[in-house]
This record gives sequence, C-alpha cells and structure tokens, in this order.
Amino acid sequence: MTKIRHILGLSGGRDSAALAVYMRQHRSDLDIEYFFTDTGKELPEVYVFLDRLEGFLGKAINRLNPDRDFDFWLAEYGHFLPSARTRWCTRQLKLRPLDLWLRADLDAGVEVHSYVAIRADEPNRSGYKPPHPGMKVFFPLRDAGIDKAGVIDLLKDGDVGEPEYYSWRSRSGCTFCFFQQKIEWVRLSREHPEAFEEAKQYEKTAEEHGSPFSWSEGETLEQLMQPQRIRAIELDYEKRLARMRSKARVNPLSARTEPTIDELFGVSEESACLTCHK
Ligand code: SF4
Repeated sequence: MTKIRHILGLSGGRDSAALAVYMRQHRSDLDIEYFFTDTGKELPEVYVFLDRLEGFLGKAINRLNPDRDFDFWLAEYGHFLPSARTRWCTRQLKLRPLDLWLRADLDAGVEVHSYVAIRADEPNRSGYKPPHPGMKVFFPLRDAGIDKAGVIDLLKDGDVGEPEYYSWRSRSGCTFCFFQQKIEWVRLSREHPEAFEEAKQYEKTAEEHGSPFSWSEGETLEQLMQPQRIRAIELDYEKRLARMRSKARVNPLSARTEPTIDELFGVSEESACLTCHK
C-alpha cells in the first residue's frame, strides 16, 4: 500500500489557520502534519498566533527553518532585494525548506496530500500547481463553500481569533515584504521600529551593490519616511477609506464591514501568494 503523508502549511494568516480548524473539526481521521516555514523575518504577532492555534489543534506545528538564512541568500543574489519580479525569497526561504522536509519521502514514492487554503469566494485557482509532481493538492474550504466570512467564523468557533497584526497590516509574511502597501510601511515603522530600521539598512546595502529595487515601488524607505510624504500617504489612505465607507452597503449577514487595506488599494486576492499570505 502506498504510504500517504497529509500536510497543511500555515502562513501565519487567517485562511490557512481557518483551514486547520476546519480539518480538525471535520477530518480528525487524518493524521495531518502542520508546518510553518519560518523565514527568520516574521512578525512577532505570527508566533503568538501560531501558539494559540497549536493550543486548539492539540499538536505541535512543525517549524521549518531554512538551512541558509535571508542574509546568506541576499549575498548569493548580489544583494539585490527580492521583488515581485524576482521572488528568490519565497523560492529559497519557503519552498526550499518544504522540499528538504519532504524530499526523502517523495523520492521513496510516498504520496503527499497537501491541503491548501483557497476559499470559495476567491478567483478560480484551478491552475495552481503543486511544488512537486508527487504531491496532490486539495482545497477543502473551497469545496465546502467557505468564504471570507466563513473563515472568520471558523476562527471564532475555534477560539483562535485573528492574528494581532490585522489591526495595522493586511497580510502575513516577512516584516519587509515588498507586497506591503505604503501605509503599511508607515505603520511598520511605528509598530516595529527595529524591523523597519533593518529593512532600511538592507535597502542601503542593496543600493551600494547597484540593486535597482527599493522595497516600496518608486521610492526608498528613507524618502517614504519624510514627514510630508507620511502625511500624503496617510491622507490618501483616509480618503480611500472614507470613499469606500460611503459606498459600502452594510450587509447585516456579513461579519466584517470594514474594507481591508488590500481592498482599499484595489489589490486583488489573486496577487496574494499562497505560500506566504494565506
Ligand atoms: S513574505 Fe514577502 S518577502 Fe517574505 S518570502 Fe514571502 S514574498 Fe518574500
């Protein structure tokens, strides 16, 4: 009989956590191995959230640490910062540790069933390819018709709640993730000044090595932090928020009436990375 491993990746975000809750409630017959690939540059709130989730699951979440850290890979890539176009960070710090964790079993013919947190209300991702041919992917939330409100309900039911960072940032992932909106950079500088300073330092080193990329499009963090620029970013955010609130038709059945930062800036769910941001 072919041996099967069941795995579920947690990003530190709400969708994958809700999927874990769902699987615990509905598929307790499966011996699921939960894992979190730690880039070493995660928000502190993520660890608190994972600890809470472990309490509900009643089992440890495997923390997969990369064999080489961010600084090693940054030097390997000539100090060019990762960007949406050259996402070496996900490849080396998220996918590679997963590959190393599964490699021996996959090579030995073990079948890996991976449960992925795609919701019913998301654009069709039927083109999603598993990172290894020996892996089969399943989308239990989508199959069960669970949407964003359903995800929030699941987290409430499990007494897990939401990660604390949702009060100021819309996604999980590295402190310096380039998918952040400008308002999120401003907020990072207040919530985690030391992480912001570290990001600034990486940017300076990258610039010295001729990297064309800054973390945030079109400007360096130094420029973004000029008082006038901060005021402009905050004003822009407030205007969008007011516009969206005035347009919003309050749905009494919806658990959430406030738009997320992504919605405010028109960022589609499709651009969210399944590995880092679910
Ligand atoms: S969270 Fe962002 S910076 Fe971190 S690995 Fe993912 S894409 Fe890269």
